[in-house]
Amino acid sequence: MLDILTCKLLRAIGAKIGRGSSLPGMICRKIWPGSLKTLKLPEKVIAVTGSNGKTSTVAMICEIAEKAGLRVVCNREGSNQIEGITTLLLSSADPRTRKVDADVVILESDERFCQYTFKEVVPSHMVITNLFRDQLTRNGHREFVRGELRKGIPDSTRLILNANEPLSCAFGNGRKGTSYYGVSAPELMEEPGIIHAYDDGAYCPICGGKMEYSYRISGHVGAFSCGKCGYASPKADHEVTGTEDGKLIIDGKWEVAPQILNEAFAQNIIAAYTAAVEAIGIDPQKAAELIDGIELDNGRVVEFDLNGHPGRFMLCKHENSMAYNGAISTALRDPSEEVTVVFIVDRLSRKYVANDMSWLWDVDFNRFSDPKVKKVILSGGFAHDAAARMLVGGVQEEKLIIEPDLDRMMTAVAERSEGTIYVMTCFTDQYKFLDRLKKYGREAAK
Ligand SMILES: [Zn+2]
Repeated sequence: MLDILTCKLLRAIGAKIGRGSSLPGMICRKIWPGSLKTLKLPEKVIAVTGSNGKTSTVAMICEIAEKAGLRVVCNREGSNQIEGITTLLLSSADPRTRKVDADVVILESDERFCQYTFKEVVPSHMVITNLFRDQLTRNGHREFVRGELRKGIPDSTRLILNANEPLSCAFGNGRKGTSYYGVSAPELMEEPGIIHAYDDGAYCPICGGKMEYSYRISGHVGAFSCGKCGYASPKADHEVTGTEDGKLIIDGKWEVAPQILNEAFAQNIIAAYTAAVEAIGIDPQKAAELIDGIELDNGRVVEFDLNGHPGRFMLCKHENSMAYNGAISTALRDPSEEVTVVFIVDRLSRKYVANDMSWLWDVDFNRFSDPKVKKVILSGGFAHDAAARMLVGGVQEEKLIIEPDLDRMMTAVAERSEGTIYVMTCFTDQYKFLDRLKKYGREAAK
């Protein structure tokens, strides 16, 4: 009882000083190491992990569940390691009964920390979104992450897997009760002829044989099959089958308006929909209605206007290709004839110092050679690295404006843009643009 009361108290105090998410759990774990295991959880505990899309997928599952009238406990603000999850669950429990007061618990978890958290909290379901190269200097290679994640999947947990991502999808091989989701919409498929600097889908993760793709959604995500061992994209239980008038079609019948129309967001939506239907048990039509038009209030997209040019700021993640590839697709799909892209790489991380720029080669920047893209403005301390990547990728030199200085970048954006402006950068660098946008007196419209 004392552990729960202490955690609630520490969380309340911590909330006032901005240390309310991990620290209370960390302290309680030191004093009462076994307390997380003895909590009484609801039957439905859904874990979400993977390199990309965790936060958005969790936010969407939470919203669907709450709109369906369920009581939800969820770490939607992040804090996805064991200390944060301890804080969340202890402080949501009744001190006398030790019951967590919810119909469903939804937990975002760091891939490498599942092995610690899910020894103490056994999820009924686990959504694994994908395994990508992601912050190489912190995480190591994705095969290493797969090995670490494997230690964190309890035997009794039912998996919900991405049928189009070969490495994480292999967790379902021979495992009963697994559900799969996918994207087969032709409009969201990669245009032919993209040359990837790396191809993480070239070889089978099970036998090492050569992998074939009948289509690709983005990079190594697509409909794959191994000619040697027969490992192939399983049939998806739920999928995005098409698009119409800017909407996604789910399972050939439900129309759902996405906040952003691109392959990355489509994968998050179908992951959340599948979790809602298969894990929570919400009726498919109802789940589609509840997910329709969902707007995540996480600042990932900011609409603005600059010198008469409509603009879209799209929050991506450095050291990872998926969000950038999605943002590039959105820019190329813009209804206007002309597009200017602004790409800012100034600082890689708030937490550690690393100048590894290998990830620039994972992103399909060569797509900026498309005639629709009129200008590419590059800024920040790594602007020249970005320019080198684009030139090797075949982007026309005359399109590039290289302005490492951020103030001069802003002047270039205001004065030299053509058509709709798409700004892409990471949360570590976002205010370097957004603050300057405000200074220009043209506050974001949304
Ligand atoms: Zn194989």
